[in-house]
Amino acid sequence: MPLTSKLPDVGTTIFTVMSKLAADHGAINLSQGYPDFDGPPELLERVTYYLNHGYNQYAPMPGLPQLREQIATKVATLYDCEVDAESEVTITSGATVALFCAITALVHEGDEVIVFDPVYDSYQPAVDLCGGITRHVPLLRPTFTPDWDRVANLLSDKTRMIIINTPHNPSGGVWTGADIEALRSVLGDRDIYLLADEVYEHIIFDGVPHQSLLRYPDLFQRSLVVSSFGKTYHTTGWKMGYCVAPQDLMTEFRKVHQYVNFVSNTPIQHGLADYMASHPQHVLGLPDFYQRKRDLFCALLDGSRFGIRPSGGTYFQLLDYRAISNEADVDLARRLTMEAGVASIPISVFYSSPEEQRDLKVLRFCFAKDDATLAKAAEILCKL
Ligand code: PMP
Ligand code: GLN
Repeated sequence: MPLTSKLPDVGTTIFTVMSKLAADHGAINLSQGYPDFDGPPELLERVTYYLNHGYNQYAPMPGLPQLREQIATKVATLYDCEVDAESEVTITSGATVALFCAITALVHEGDEVIVFDPVYDSYQPAVDLCGGITRHVPLLRPTFTPDWDRVANLLSDKTRMIIINTPHNPSGGVWTGADIEALRSVLGDRDIYLLADEVYEHIIFDGVPHQSLLRYPDLFQRSLVVSSFGKTYHTTGWKMGYCVAPQDLMTEFRKVHQYVNFVSNTPIQHGLADYMASHPQHVLGLPDFYQRKRDLFCALLDGSRFGIRPSGGTYFQLLDYRAISNEADVDLARRLTMEAGVASIPISVFYSSPEEQRDLKVLRFCFAKDDATLAKAAEILCKL
């Protein structure tokens, strides 16, 4: 039977490709974003406790009530946003599932969705599956913040959603209050939903506040805000996340969620709820924790030939290699993994326009690693 792919242009995600290449060649893996250290011991203890004490059946569909309450408390404390834990918070199996459910619930055939390049790679396939059209706006370099004139020019009656990601993967760019103002002004009273990928909400540096859409009631009423326990608690392999949205949007979100995800892991939800209740300060320590790693990694590379503009958030650092090589970033990333023994992510793959890709001589390195790993990698990178 002839097979007609619904995603003819989709290959294997670059994160999987580079992590496999790193494993195959025994390279230090600074490509795919994940810590090489464990989550907090007490969190692991709580999850183990629930696993060993019979909490191993389905949780309630939108998530464990006490975990949803913890999220409501957190967003009230940090962003002054009052949400109803019962009807406006849903636990998902990773932020990826939340993003997929949000897009699938709201994007109709022919709707246009605006994304910012370099764009995280899971959004467009979901839009494609809905028959939507993705419109790409390149972020301004070197700050990697939106070009609002270009956004304004792209808006039309067909625009249904704008997908926002701050702090931004892969660039480390962060939105300022001026970006929020500009967003508000381009939106006007158009019927456009906002999908905010805020998985790095707690990993933001230099005292800059995170511009969560949860802070702005007028914007939040048209928003779905997504986060990830994986980033916040150094447990990416647990694949746990959540979505916060006003009730009318959440009702639609849950219609999809119940058939994509149904429920998420029970003992982990119990463990997270306990840990969030007993350690509300954990999230407040993350900026310093990761800023120290960013600063260490950048300092270790001080004598290298890489161009460095310290990341504003996330656990990724872009390094400009134009003083080292003329190669395309995809080729250099492969060669450095196989020959030098350090794996990174080429960021051209997150752009749709070949013009934007052409002069892009940067690689993304993950610094969510033990200091010794960062030192070993930097020693190699300094020799290039
Ligand atoms: N969005 C962005 C920008 C990410 O970097 C990630 C991390 N992989 C995700 C979504 C997905 O998070 P999760 O692992 O919780 O699905
Ligand atoms: N978000 C992680 C990164 O940017 C990887 C997640 C994945 O592998 N899908 O590296």
